[in-house]
Amino acid sequence: MRSEPTGPRVATALEIRDVVVIQPRPGLPALIEDALTRSGALLRGHFGLQVGKHTEYFIRFRALARDEAVLAAIAGHLLATVSIPAGATVLVAESAGYFLGEALRARSGAALAVARTDVERRPARSLLHGAIAPGAPVVVVNDVVTTGASLEPLLDLAADAGATVTAALVFGALDGTGFRAMLNRRRLAGDHLLEASPAWPITDPSRCAACAAGSPPLLPAAELN
Ligand SMILES: [Zn+2]
Repeated sequence: MRSEPTGPRVATALEIRDVVVIQPRPGLPALIEDALTRSGALLRGHFGLQVGKHTEYFIRFRALARDEAVLAAIAGHLLATVSIPAGATVLVAESAGYFLGEALRARSGAALAVARTDVERRPARSLLHGAIAPGAPVVVVNDVVTTGASLEPLLDLAADAGATVTAALVFGALDGTGFRAMLNRRRLAGDHLLEASPAWPITDPSRCAACAAGSPPLLPAAELN
């Protein structure tokens, strides 16, 4: 017998501390733990990610970004590692990553370009807003990625325009090792502020405990934003 789908619920402060690893920079772990707790942005349930994996937790970045002070602090921490030159274009998808891109643009004086998303909420290879100048440096931005494979349509879009992507900035990279490997492979600067701990299950559907128990995943989880 299939169990009824159980809706996602907000993760507790204990669960947040258990499943999220925050970069050990001054003030950052307290800022993010507190913001995740107050906003209820970390959900526990059974979710499908764009990369095809299933996950027990999901960060609704939009809920975090509603607090402008938190969003500004997140942008400040990212810009402390990777500066965005004036004259650069910040490229985001039409998704919750837009809010981080806009905050980074506002603090750096860069321009903003927004890529369309397809029906599955993946970035498409055309712009909804803004422009990318040939030869201009481009910084791609998103809220939460797994390894950063979801950034590839943005990298392709910049390449189509004859621009050079210099960096990738994301709030979270759930697979931090995979994200760093993607940056190295692409020769990009980049940064992320948090990743998933080993206690945060991210699995192939064939090995997903919730699927095995008959619970259908919420697909795609990005719609929760
Ligand atoms: Zn599953």
